[in-house]
Amino acid sequence: PCCNNLFLFLPAEVLLDMRASGSELGWLTSPYENGWEIVQTVVNGTLFYTYSVCSIETTEQDNWLRTTFIQRRPGTSRVSVELSFVVRDCNTFGGASVGCKETFNLFISEADADVGTNFRKGQFRKVATIAPDEVTQGRVLKVNTETKTVGPLSKKGFYLGFQDVGACVALLSVRVYYKTCPSTVQSLAVFPETVADALRKVEGACVENAVSQATPCIYCTAEGKWVVPVVQCQCLAGYEATGDSCQACKPGYFKPSVSNNFCQVCPDNTKPSASGASECLCEEGFFRAPSDPSTSASPPSAPRDLTSMTLPGEGKLQLFWSPPLVTGGRSDLMYSVVCKLCDEASCTPCGEKIRFEPGPTDLQDPTVVVSDLDSHLNYTFTVEAQSGVSQFSAEKPTATITTALDYTDPPKVTEIHLDDRSPTSLSLSWTPTRRPPAHINHRYELMYRRKDDSTEGDVTTYKVLILDKSFVQIDGLIPATTYTFRVHALGPEGNPGSYSADHEFNTFPLAEPQFGNKPTMVMVAVFGVAVILLVVVAGLLLRKRLVTVHFISTVNVYQHKPLKTYIDPHTYEDPNIAIHKFVTEIDPSVIGKQKVIGVGEFGEVFRGVMKIPGRGEVPVAIKTLKPGYSEKQRQDFLSEATIMGQFSHPNIIHLEGVITKFKHAMIVTEYMENGALDTYLKGRDGEIPPYQLVGMLRGIAAGMKYLSDMNYVHRDLAARNVLVNGNLECKVSDFGLSRVLEDDAEGTYTTRGGKIPIRWTAPEAIAYRKFTSASDVWSFGIVMWEVMAFGERPYWDMSNHEVMKAINENFRLPAPMDCPSAIYQLMLQCWLHERLKRPRFLDIVNFLDKLLKSPESLKTIADFDPRVSIRLPSTSGGDGTMFRSVPEWLESIKMSQYKESFARAGITTMEQVLALRHEDIRNIGVRLPGHMKRIAYSILGLKDETSSLSVFAV
Ligand code: AMP
Repeated sequence: PCCNNLFLFLPAEVLLDMRASGSELGWLTSPYENGWEIVQTVVNGTLFYTYSVCSIETTEQDNWLRTTFIQRRPGTSRVSVELSFVVRDCNTFGGASVGCKETFNLFISEADADVGTNFRKGQFRKVATIAPDEVTQGRVLKVNTETKTVGPLSKKGFYLGFQDVGACVALLSVRVYYKTCPSTVQSLAVFPETVADALRKVEGACVENAVSQATPCIYCTAEGKWVVPVVQCQCLAGYEATGDSCQACKPGYFKPSVSNNFCQVCPDNTKPSASGASECLCEEGFFRAPSDPSTSASPPSAPRDLTSMTLPGEGKLQLFWSPPLVTGGRSDLMYSVVCKLCDEASCTPCGEKIRFEPGPTDLQDPTVVVSDLDSHLNYTFTVEAQSGVSQFSAEKPTATITTALDYTDPPKVTEIHLDDRSPTSLSLSWTPTRRPPAHINHRYELMYRRKDDSTEGDVTTYKVLILDKSFVQIDGLIPATTYTFRVHALGPEGNPGSYSADHEFNTFPLAEPQFGNKPTMVMVAVFGVAVILLVVVAGLLLRKRLVTVHFISTVNVYQHKPLKTYIDPHTYEDPNIAIHKFVTEIDPSVIGKQKVIGVGEFGEVFRGVMKIPGRGEVPVAIKTLKPGYSEKQRQDFLSEATIMGQFSHPNIIHLEGVITKFKHAMIVTEYMENGALDTYLKGRDGEIPPYQLVGMLRGIAAGMKYLSDMNYVHRDLAARNVLVNGNLECKVSDFGLSRVLEDDAEGTYTTRGGKIPIRWTAPEAIAYRKFTSASDVWSFGIVMWEVMAFGERPYWDMSNHEVMKAINENFRLPAPMDCPSAIYQLMLQCWLHERLKRPRFLDIVNFLDKLLKSPESLKTIADFDPRVSIRLPSTSGGDGTMFRSVPEWLESIKMSQYKESFARAGITTMEQVLALRHEDIRNIGVRLPGHMKRIAYSILGLKDETSSLSVFAV
């Protein structure tokens, strides 16, 4: 039975099968007697012919058995010969078996034709000696099977010969066959049965309903094994591979293309498919993008909340919108924007001139910046939401806005042109840097005076015209006189733009009467006609140029004010003259000191009152000069008043006057109930909402803008130099000249000898004393930080040296706790290393105003890292030991006010502190959210042993 199995499984093309023939084979034996003999055997009722030999009595046996002629199949050169045989054990014959052997030999002889019985040993060559694996000793036959490959063969056919040299052998079966690689299906390709010879490349074909670009192929080895299939057959659309075939997709399923994928369930919003479907048809109102066939989606709905915002710089605005509520089931949502100029009747495209950033189409984010817009036009922007299926839908989901540039500051006027003149009039015109929006009428303020008008004292008198057009004719002037003009635009609320430079124009001299030159009548007539024509033309021109003058007045301009430049008192040779140019002398009798409220560098600061006729008694602050001063000190003391006296702004501390005529010089200013800003904020964590803090910052920025407009560089802007009144209005103070060098506790001597408050000062000012409004902006950034951190010391306990190093390495203070992100961003802008890139105070004021106008903009809070931002010491003194006591810890985080509460609650050890949870802290009596956070964060910091406190975020 094992042999049968073997035959079944061998892939073969059989040339000869002794057993299967079932009849006498007609093989030649030689010698005819005593050699191989044919034996009939019946196994299970079937008759078999086998050959056997057993001539062991004598040596020198040479018994041959030769097959019939076996045809070789053309194209093959090797055949397999499989023998099954039994060999008897020589030992079982005892001494009788002198010549007994246990092997026999296989021979082959090639021939081009059947030679019949013409058998010649000499034509055979030996293939192999056949030895049994097991010899048979008893009644149980041990059948051996052996396969030999014979070749190469070249003639038409061959004979096999079996030479017996004295063994007792029964040849049960002989099979001669070619090995083949059986027909096979591999990866959806069919390959035919192939004779295994040498390694052979075989081409196949894809199964039904499958296709391939290249012909599938595979190799058949000499051993009859298929190897290295190269097959790319894929089932057609609507079919999927199931085993070795491609089956049609079931109803309700589909497969869109030739691929190895399986059929998919029809997507949502489609009609059910039939068997073998390559697509599922979309339901009404749904579409499919060609790029992804396995979807069915509806177009998105319209963008929402389309708004615009004018950006700084000329001609730029940003559009924002919210994504549509319905995306329609696709994620490739995009937007496109179209700009039109519309009037009541029709719209026209805005044209090529305007630019979109990042572009007008394929916008992935719901925003776009439009630039090169004209400030006097109204633009209509239409934003369309699109997805991969939009092209199939007639509906256009759009949002539309009509908007115009909306500048808060009026345009600039740079040039004034003289258009016409006469002895008594000048016609002037000018062009603003941008045209006003259609709906807004810019007005202009024109000031002029006679150039040589003698200035009375400090006062110059100007005539002022308020005009609603950018041209004017001024009449009633004096002939042959030079006039000085300047003009600026006024914004919608009358807010002024910056002035043009002063321009000078002359009126014509009066025409001298011409004597001694008698014109003829003709000339008179011609001249007369010309004059009439001129008058008519001029009249027409003038009609066109009619301007509404809204308001004419004269203003007295103090000479130093229109110049808007602060004057350094040191430019005066005598400081005593300088001070009286700018400051009122107060009679000491109207002043009453009440109480010491502070100590300045030159002496005590008192709260007091001043009697002012008509205003009663007003509270004032009185700075005094301590006795024993030198003349130099007196001048330095009063120089602050000389400077302050030049300023007039709600966010600059107001000087009432000075007392210089008495021994004890005094400076009297408005009284600021809440004192210095840094002290005011300390301990008020969380009490003042961010909105109010930003309001305070806005005030400081406005004051600083005023100072920078006046070309005054403060050099020591810090929260300690800002005063706060009862309404929480902040005013910039401290204008000493020598102050930066001398009286500031923060001042540190630099290598060049001056004193500089390092942690408030911009790097370029520290490095090479480049003090500018831009360095004041840096300091303003630090003030913002101080304010948002409720009076925290900038850079905590780092040394000045460490601060300078950190700044140079591009580290910046981290966001204070609960600081609105927009405010922190502004701080970072103020701390840009390149001073020209920092915002100007004008930009800062505008930005803060914008934030204050939309308080939601303050809701986003900047990221806050408690470990670096509070700089909570996790150990006392940095030596790795914990705080020894709870009070010591509370003190370190400036929460000493809770010492008693903690003690009362029985929290006396740091271990207990570490175990506190939020509600425990609340139960102890910490209610203010700011304090709560500070304590909770500190505990977090204490727990975090790894917190690195010496480095802080960029
Ligand atoms: P100063 O010499 O200007 O730095 O003033 C010293 C201190 O006096 C300040 O820190 C304030 O606490 C207080 N002070 C100065 N000016 C005023 C004022 N106008 N109103 C209230 N307090 C003031």
